Amino acid sequence: NPLVGNLIGEGHVNYVLMYNMLTGIRIAVSRWQAKLRRPLVPEDFTAAHKYSFDIVGNELTPSAKYDFKFKDYAPWVFRELRESHFHLDPADYLLSLTAKYILSELGSPGKSGSFFYFSRDYRFIIKTIHHTEHKFLRKILPEYYEHVKANPHTLLSRFYGLHRVKLPRGRKIHFVIMNNLFPPHKDVHETYDLKGSTVGREYPEEKAALNPRAVLKDLNWINRHRQLEIGPEKRALLTEQLRRDSDLLKLLHVMDYSLLVGIHNVARGNRDNVRRNTLKVFSPAVPMVKRKPTQVKGPSSPEAIAMRRLVRESDIQNLESITLPEEDHGERQHLIFYQEDGGIRATDEENKNLDQIYYLGIIDILTPYTTLKKMEHVWKGLSADIHKISPVPPAEYADRFFSFMKAIMRGGEGGERFKSE
Ligand code: ATP
Ligand code: CA
Ligand code: CA
Repeated sequence: NPLVGNLIGEGHVNYVLMYNMLTGIRIAVSRWQAKLRRPLVPEDFTAAHKYSFDIVGNELTPSAKYDFKFKDYAPWVFRELRESHFHLDPADYLLSLTAKYILSELGSPGKSGSFFYFSRDYRFIIKTIHHTEHKFLRKILPEYYEHVKANPHTLLSRFYGLHRVKLPRGRKIHFVIMNNLFPPHKDVHETYDLKGSTVGREYPEEKAALNPRAVLKDLNWINRHRQLEIGPEKRALLTEQLRRDSDLLKLLHVMDYSLLVGIHNVARGNRDNVRRNTLKVFSPAVPMVKRKPTQVKGPSSPEAIAMRRLVRESDIQNLESITLPEEDHGERQHLIFYQEDGGIRATDEENKNLDQIYYLGIIDILTPYTTLKKMEHVWKGLSADIHKISPVPPAEYADRFFSFMKAIMRGGEGGERFKSE
C-alpha cells in the first residue's frame, strides 16, 4: 500500500529546519538511551538540556551540516513515557524519526499556524507548537504523566518528546512528537474533528464531496446521521475512558480540544488509496494561498496562473512512493482502543463485527483558557448562543464534550438532545 507523500528533500523551504530537528532528536534521544534507567525524581520534569551543533562538532555533538541550537525537555520523563507506558521500542523510534528523507509535510491543516510532519513510516507526527503551548505542556507534565500512568488506555495525544530548535539569528521553534492516530496500512474514508460545539462547526458538504480527505465537523456528523457503532462492552470502556480523560482536561483548565474520528470502511478496503488524493488537497500552495489571499485576484490573473503552475510543479517534484508496513506496530497491540487493525472494530449489540474500523483519540489538548480565549468567548457570544460556541470555560467545555461523545455512540446516553438541534 504505497503512500505518496510530499517529501521534504534538499531544496525544500523547510529542509534545514527538518534536518536540524531530526539531527537534534537523534543525538539527544540516543544520549539518554545509553544511560541506565532509574526512577524519576521531581527535577526530571523541569529539566532542559541544551545542545549546540556546528560543522566542526564537539564531544557532545558530532559535526552537523548547519549551525543550530537544540533543546531537549524532560528527557527522562519522555523516555519513561515512551518505554514504560506507551510501549515504544527505542530503536524503532529513533529509526522512524531519523532515516534520510524521512518526513512528509502536511502543511498547516489547522488555523493555529502549526505545521505537521509525518515520519516516513507514517507512525509519528511532529507538530510545531506555539510558545504558550510549550510552556503549558511543561507545566502540566507531572499531571499528564500521572494520568497516563494511571490510565494506560487514555485517548489523549501520546506525547513522545518535546524539543526546541533555534537557528542562528532565527526564531525558536518548539515542537512535540506524538502518535499518528491513523494507521499506515488502512485508508481512512471519513475524518471528523468533533468538539461538541455546534456553532459554525460544519465543513461545506459541496466541498466535502470533492475532497475525500476533508476533515468534517460536528454538524456534518449530525446531519449525516453518523453513529459510532460499538457493542455494549467496548462502549462502556470507551465511555469510561472519555470520562476520565475529559475530567483531567477540566482539571488542567484546557479547552478547544477535539475527538478526532477516522472511519475505515472494510468493504471499500484500501482500493481508493485515499492518501494519494490527499496531496492534491494539502499541496504546498494551500498555506501560501491562505497567507496571501489578496495576491490571487481572479482565476486568470497572472498571480493565479503562477500559483497554479507552482502547485503543479511542486506536486510533481515532491511525489515519491513510500513502502509502508503492512502489519501493525507493537505499541498498538497493548491498547484496547487501538488493537483491532490499529483501531476499534465496529460491532453490533451482540458483538458481531460490522463493516467499519474507527480510529479515534483526543487531540489539540494544549490550549489553556487564556485571556485571548476569554475574549473570543465574549465576542462570539454576542452573535450566537453562548453555550454552543466553541470557546466556553473549561468545565463547561469538558461537560459538553463528554455529553456529545456519549451521544455519538449508538445506544449511548443523551443522543436525542444533540439530534434535535
Ligand atoms: P487549530 O488550533 O486551528 O484547531 P492546530 O494547528 O492546533 O489547529 P490540530 O487541531 O492539532 O491543529 O490538528 C489539526 C488537524 O490535523 C486535525 O483535525 C487532524 O485532521 C490532524 N491531526 C492532528 N493531530 C493528529 C493525530 N495525532 N493523528 C492524526 N491526525 C491528526
Ligand atoms: Ca484543533
Ligand atoms: Ca490548536
